[in-house]
Amino acid sequence: MVVSPEFPQIIASDPLKTLTSTFPETLSFPPVRRGRLQTLQVNLGYRCNQTCSHCHVNAGPWRKEMMTREMIELIPEVLDRLNLHCLDLTGGAPELHPQFRDLVVSARSLGVDVIDRCNLTILSEPGHEDLAEFLAAMGVRVVASLPCYEQERVDLQRGQGVYERSIAGLKQLNRLGYGQPGSPLQLDLVFNPSGPSLPPAQEPLEAQYREALASSHGISFSHLLTITNMPIQRFARDLLHQGKLEPYQQILREAHRPENIQSVMCRSLISVSWTGALYDCDFNQQLNLASDSGPRTLVDLLSAADGLKDLPIAVADHCFGCTAGNGSSCGGSLT
Ligand code: SF4
Ligand code: SF4
Repeated sequence: MVVSPEFPQIIASDPLKTLTSTFPETLSFPPVRRGRLQTLQVNLGYRCNQTCSHCHVNAGPWRKEMMTREMIELIPEVLDRLNLHCLDLTGGAPELHPQFRDLVVSARSLGVDVIDRCNLTILSEPGHEDLAEFLAAMGVRVVASLPCYEQERVDLQRGQGVYERSIAGLKQLNRLGYGQPGSPLQLDLVFNPSGPSLPPAQEPLEAQYREALASSHGISFSHLLTITNMPIQRFARDLLHQGKLEPYQQILREAHRPENIQSVMCRSLISVSWTGALYDCDFNQQLNLASDSGPRTLVDLLSAADGLKDLPIAVADHCFGCTAGNGSSCGGSLT
């Protein structure tokens, strides 16, 4: 198994490195059925102030696709009708949507937990200087990408100057109470490898991040989430150009762990595109891989009182990215 070379001292102690390659190239991903639906993950649109090299949604400042106001106004109704506990907002940069704040206020007033998948640099974009205060006042959980605690790798993967602005954003969040010991304001960081390899074990990497960010910048955070790069969209195209796509897919297949299937995020989450179409997860959304059965749109969800339990999930080869090694989801590793 190939594990990310970024953190060699952790890789050396990774028990997974002893796994052997026992899976054939043609291994198909096993069938998966949905469990109890808990989270509505909504992609508010593809506009973003960044253009990261690994971005699986091809987001950027030039993208125009954004969810309509009418669709956004349906979301609290769906949360309420299906008794969902969590609204997970993604993009692009979800905060760039003009109705982002209205939606957060509505969801919080229903007692629903809200996650903002924040790229940190948005906190210092003109017109968004009060965003961090808003998130804190609403008790929104911030999940922020920081693929390394050192400048070079972050700027390489996410763009020149992103590291410095990310550190400034983290300090701003810390000042508001985010990520501080005992604070209810949760600030989670996301690590993903810079290339076609599996992330190292989450817990020791979290300790390494904690130490490095505290000593270099006085920054604290709640948890580190390690996420495997999905071989789709911009990342897949880059790998294809380098002749590394098939080898990476094989790495994921060979590291498949069947016990991770019960925890893959599609079992408890449903993903809504900016058009209102439903998918089993954000990756399937980017591949336009919709399930054959069950509700197809956000509107259909209003009458899906049973919460979609036991419906089959649309799986394909990329799903090995969720079950390889320690497993991967929007909430970090699965094991
Ligand atoms: S910040 Fe996120 S959405 Fe924006 S380009 Fe980077 S990975 Fe894509
Ligand atoms: S890629 Fe999506 S559908 Fe496939 S296992 Fe992961 S979460 Fe489920």
